[in-house]
Amino acid sequence: MNEADFIERVRARNPNEPEYLQAVEEVVASLWPFLQDEGRRYLDAGVLERLTEGDRAISFRVAWIDDQGEVQTNRGYRIQWCGVLGPYKGGLRFHPSVNFAISKFLAFEQTFKNALTTLPLGGAKGGADFDPKGKSDEEVMRFCQSFMTELSRYIGPDVDVPAGDIGVGGREIGYLFGQYRRMTGRFEGALTGKGVGWGGSEIRTEATGYGAIFFAQEMFAARDEGLEGKTVGISGAGNVAQYAAEKAIALGAKVVTMSDSSGFIHDPAGIDRDKLEWIKALKNDRRGRIREYAEQFDAEYHEGKKPWSVAMDLALPCATQNELGREDAEALVKNECAAIVEGANMPCTAAAAKLIRERGLLYAPGKAANAGGVATSGLEMTQNSQRMYWGRERVEDELHEIMRDIHRACCEHGKGEDGQIDYVRGANIAGFIRVADAMIAQGAI
Ligand code: NDP
Repeated sequence: MNEADFIERVRARNPNEPEYLQAVEEVVASLWPFLQDEGRRYLDAGVLERLTEGDRAISFRVAWIDDQGEVQTNRGYRIQWCGVLGPYKGGLRFHPSVNFAISKFLAFEQTFKNALTTLPLGGAKGGADFDPKGKSDEEVMRFCQSFMTELSRYIGPDVDVPAGDIGVGGREIGYLFGQYRRMTGRFEGALTGKGVGWGGSEIRTEATGYGAIFFAQEMFAARDEGLEGKTVGISGAGNVAQYAAEKAIALGAKVVTMSDSSGFIHDPAGIDRDKLEWIKALKNDRRGRIREYAEQFDAEYHEGKKPWSVAMDLALPCATQNELGREDAEALVKNECAAIVEGANMPCTAAAAKLIRERGLLYAPGKAANAGGVATSGLEMTQNSQRMYWGRERVEDELHEIMRDIHRACCEHGKGEDGQIDYVRGANIAGFIRVADAMIAQGAI
């Protein structure tokens, strides 16, 4: 079978699932030359066919009662994609856009990402088409309780360990964990991202954003450059964006943009530590909109726009999938942006990614650059199993080392004849080999 036939087969088996197809096409395109050559045995063992068919997909009704006493009905998902490397692991997303195709693309990507961390973690993802925005704490709690009542049948510390994602932060993990404990009668590590006082790990909240910056640091270091003095543009103002900004600022970079789904703010003077603390309070406590930043500080607000037209050395898309299109990529190229590091999962459209790679910008795919979150979840699982608590410094050191290792793996498998690193190819091949070897060893299942 050639590459086009293979993709056609996946397309025919998964109609109306554009995000899933986009993720598969990207992975297969970078794996194919390798599979024709030294990776031939993986093709012969049918690994690619097996990896594009998840282990199982669960979908379920979530009925809950809103503050008006009305019954509301949402749909929950858990996609357990590949369990050859360990218990399934991947976040839960609560957002109205969540559907089968989005959950599948995320679970597929997660499988490679988790393999890249070298930790014993299988790949999964899930969530619901529930929008926590505008809901009271009580409504969110009732939703989480109903969601977990069903999900608790399918998860557990040695089975599947969900974490947070878009719309699922500390508050939601707390309600979900409480209900899991009530349903099973067990206090165990069936979720990560828990509060530090009750089984959570230090640095888990910060891990994805910090990890993305550690990865960017390695990319620039390979060119004998540092982050100090670099101008950084960030999209999103949620968990990943906040902590990417925090670490970038700590390393001497100037962060000039952040955004939410309504628009972006541009602060040419830079978002400093104090302004970032203000954003954290705005987003995490008051659950306000990013436009309020421009009312509070001397900054511009661009309604309905994305930050990619601003001049920046490093672009960090940290909001959602397909948020950076071809025109945005053209603007970044025009403004001589040096690197794009994906804090979010698949934030660049296929056309944008193509242009970025053609123009030779440094480009780190999410499955490598944002793997720090799941890696630190892996460290939380280890602490839960040991019934131990590790200090901040230890966890941050471990995270930093894991990000360096992922960077090394990308370089090992992504170095071209011209000496340039293709991080997409490097990440896909490195993750694939680990999963594929385990698949072959465990037989045709
Ligand atoms: P949060 O919910 O904390 O923040 C998401 C941010 O993105 C918010 O600012 C939100 O704005 C914005 N956003 C969401 N949807 C859209 C949209 N359709 N268009 C424009 N902006 C949007 O999520 P996280 O920070 O946790 O996740 C962000 C990304 O990082 C996701 O792709 C996620 O899969 C990925 N990721 C997260 C990890 C984690 O540990 N949390 C780990 C690895 C990857 P608004 O408030 O207006 O909705």
